[in-house]
Amino acid sequence: MEKSYKSMAPKKSLGQNFLSDPWWIERIARALEIQEEDCVLEIGPGKGALTRALLPYTRDLLAVEIDQRMVELLKAELGGHPNLRVIHEDFLRFDLGAALGGRRVRVVGNLPYHITSSILMRVLEEIRRGQTDPAAAQITDFAIMIQKEVAQRILSGPGSREYGILSVYVGLLCEGRILLDVPPGAFFPKPKVDSAVIRLRPLATPRAEVKDWDFFRRVVRAAFNQRRKMLRRSLLNIPGVPNPEGLENADELLSRRPETLSVPEFADLAARLGALRAAPDEEARL
Ligand code: SAM
Repeated sequence: MEKSYKSMAPKKSLGQNFLSDPWWIERIARALEIQEEDCVLEIGPGKGALTRALLPYTRDLLAVEIDQRMVELLKAELGGHPNLRVIHEDFLRFDLGAALGGRRVRVVGNLPYHITSSILMRVLEEIRRGQTDPAAAQITDFAIMIQKEVAQRILSGPGSREYGILSVYVGLLCEGRILLDVPPGAFFPKPKVDSAVIRLRPLATPRAEVKDWDFFRRVVRAAFNQRRKMLRRSLLNIPGVPNPEGLENADELLSRRPETLSVPEFADLAARLGALRAAPDEEARL
């Protein structure tokens, strides 16, 4: 008994703060508004607190968990459930296309907080893929519990101190809002921070056209890596990014700091810089 209790001890390295308060678990499950016909993908089911609460709402729940101990526990306790599939895998390596290609899917989870950004980026990549490739998984919404401060950052707009890299990517592809604030007491062990459940819904059309996603990301990252500096300084000497001084009629733009640029302005800046990058090749061909 003692041994099995110890072996299931929460691992800090995997962000294991389990939902433990039944009132909050039910409240969160209801806030997600899952419908019977929805296919749901849960990231990090852990011991199954949310999984159990969601099962009455959906006929198709796929749960992806990295910790073998949790997978065994879930299979032992819920393995026979006809509506549940448990997969032992790192979500960051999970092939969503192979598992759910072409299907509409709602992604949920009480995320491991130390890798929130990586998981979010992974899902945003998948949302982008879904917008252009009908054979990719079609994520219809993404409802996750994360650190409240991160939620506020992700959902903030230009002009605010919280506005940053993730707000730009999310703002480009999704609309989002906070569904619930959740206190540390809802978890075991208690996290040191407040939490919030947010919902992101992919827009039918992104807020701006981004042809070269990798280059766009490079520009946004470089700009925010030195957020106190004007763009003419922060974008200088970035590998693969042309000297911004090469842009025409951009004096006012280059004197601004990244937190003042809207998503379409970032898209426009990246497109113009990208065109500058292509220019020498054009000339060489002529
Ligand atoms: N959903 C459960 C709950 O609410 O009680 C557990 C939430 S706990 C905050 C995060 C869960 O994500 C843990 O079970 C952890 O093992 C799992 N996890 C951590 N990193 C993961 C990854 N890369 N892929 C899949 N699951 C992961």
